[in-house]
Amino acid sequence: MLHYPARPKGKVRLMKVKVGINGYGTIGKRVADAVAAQSDMEIVGVTKTRPSVEAIQAWEKGYPLYVAKRSSLELFDEAGIRVEGTLEDLLQKVDIMIDCSPGKVGATYKPLYEKEGVKAIFQGGEKADVAEVSFNAYANYQKAWGSSFVRVVSCNTTALVRTLYPLHSEIGVEEVQAVMIRRAADPWDSSKGPINAIEPSLKLPSHHGPDVQTVIPDINIYTTAVKVPTTIMHLHSVIVKLSKDSTDEDILSLWERFPRIAFASGSLGIKSTARVMEMARDMLRPRGDMYETVLWRDGVKVMGGRTLYYYQAVHQESDVVPENVDAIRAMFQLMEKEESIETTDRTLGIGWKIV
Ligand code: NAD
Repeated sequence: MLHYPARPKGKVRLMKVKVGINGYGTIGKRVADAVAAQSDMEIVGVTKTRPSVEAIQAWEKGYPLYVAKRSSLELFDEAGIRVEGTLEDLLQKVDIMIDCSPGKVGATYKPLYEKEGVKAIFQGGEKADVAEVSFNAYANYQKAWGSSFVRVVSCNTTALVRTLYPLHSEIGVEEVQAVMIRRAADPWDSSKGPINAIEPSLKLPSHHGPDVQTVIPDINIYTTAVKVPTTIMHLHSVIVKLSKDSTDEDILSLWERFPRIAFASGSLGIKSTARVMEMARDMLRPRGDMYETVLWRDGVKVMGGRTLYYYQAVHQESDVVPENVDAIRAMFQLMEKEESIETTDRTLGIGWKIV
């Protein structure tokens, strides 16, 4: 564990936290923009493996560009794209590296981050043991306080934890059964499928339930997953056995206190994930992102007093973005939980209400 002096409570940190992004892809480019929007942290560099259009776009945004691998320097040189150096050079300039390289690749960089004495955040494609903490801002912000290595859990786990944590902590949960209806690929990715099939995960239960338990260890949850030919969002169908009798209104008013849970309504024509994403585009969100976990208000139902049914839509490309920003604040002890979440939400425009 690396040691950083704790910030005395109430004092403002004068220096911005210097942040690097290793892997400027789907998650990396979004986290970079979210970090750049904060006043207590700054992007000092991002890495690319190849001189792709994203490398040019990073450069145009003013993010200093570094190569993840020294062997790629020549490729960038041939493409006429200026780089400031290698990942090793970037590590000399940052306080923290947000590792957004592909799943399982992030862990291979951990020894390098440790050697250079740089804190790191890993993403949900890594195993939980890559970090001291599997993180969700609502559920365990304090656990990451001062940590050196944190994993922001996957998009599906983030969404499940957001809606289950309030139920678990305020009402009590006996058991959760949830089906993950998963997008086949991200919208830009034409190399994956299925394009005309539904593919069940034959590993039962699916890994999502145990992943939720890395954040909320004492929750009793079982999940299954199917992949479907869509790219825009995941959808979860969740059944929760509650510990106390509750009404639809009790549940809705509890969730309303958590701005990263947003509500759509079929009665207003939002009957599908396609309409949820259209709403994000109409809100002029960057890249049409939907950081919130979106629940259908008219799809929330308690039956027999204790069995809660709901559906939630998950924008896989962006729901983990605010969590990465909060994880930085917890790791550098910049702000207490509520202040960090409120600051992140304000800067990213999270917390809209239409119904
Ligand atoms: P991506 O493929 O879109 O981006 C990965 C980036 O890393 C690319 O820019 C790629 O060029 C770069 N890269 C490839 N090999 C590298 C290497 N050896 N070193 C450094 N960089 C390298 O992937 P992504 O979807 O952004 O996923 C990143 C992480 O975030 C994964 O752990 C993934 O599981 C997790 N995640 C993804 C999603 C999602 O739906 N896309 C959602 C939540 C979490």
